[in-house]
Amino acid sequence: MAQKILVVEDEMSIMTLLQFNLEQAGYEVVTAEDGAEALQKIEVEKPNCIILDLMLPEMDGLEVCKEMRSRHIYTPVLMLTAKDDEFDKVLGLELGADDYMTKPFSPREVVARVKAILRRIKQMEGMKGAPEEAERIQVGELDVYPNNYEAYFKGELMEVTPKEFELLVYLVRHKGRVLTREQLLSAVWNYDFVGDTRIVDVHVSHLREKIEENTRKPEYIKTIRGLGYKLEGPSS
Ligand code: CA
Repeated sequence: MAQKILVVEDEMSIMTLLQFNLEQAGYEVVTAEDGAEALQKIEVEKPNCIILDLMLPEMDGLEVCKEMRSRHIYTPVLMLTAKDDEFDKVLGLELGADDYMTKPFSPREVVARVKAILRRIKQMEGMKGAPEEAERIQVGELDVYPNNYEAYFKGELMEVTPKEFELLVYLVRHKGRVLTREQLLSAVWNYDFVGDTRIVDVHVSHLREKIEENTRKPEYIKTIRGLGYKLEGPSS
């Protein structure tokens, strides 16, 4: 069965271009032209991945994303932004998209990103194994079960997006080691090309909000100045 992609875009030329290229790549494409229609399609069509334009009439991409997360829908989102300063705005607001692309983009690159996102999701699902295979990684009050796609903090199930989870798994698996942004980008985002490492910073800050008492003085995910990040237990 073909994977379903929801494209949310109010500019018809871009919509047509994306739809054509995604269908050529073998995906089923569903479309929406505004935020309200997008939310309705997300509920009804249950897409595997969403390509979401930031600038939409009335409800913008940001609000769509927030509303989705508040409904506990964690479908991966590839956010489209018009220019670099818009990209900065999105990063500043930390809305929980899994990936970002700045217009103008090549349709081939969009398809490549969608493929990377879906490949990672499939790998994650493939790892959901039998109970005896359940791997548990414990760091401080953090309990991560990579195979079950579950993480607990202080005994409570964490609500994380697929990318946040993958990043968390990578960090706990490499506990105590300094990881560069480039390393994290290549391992977690699976890019075959050089991407924007600010995506890593945004996801780290999302995770910190969920596990740090004081995000300015993080006890788990430490910033190693000039290098990257390191995950440690709170007492170490
Ligand atoms: Ca637009």
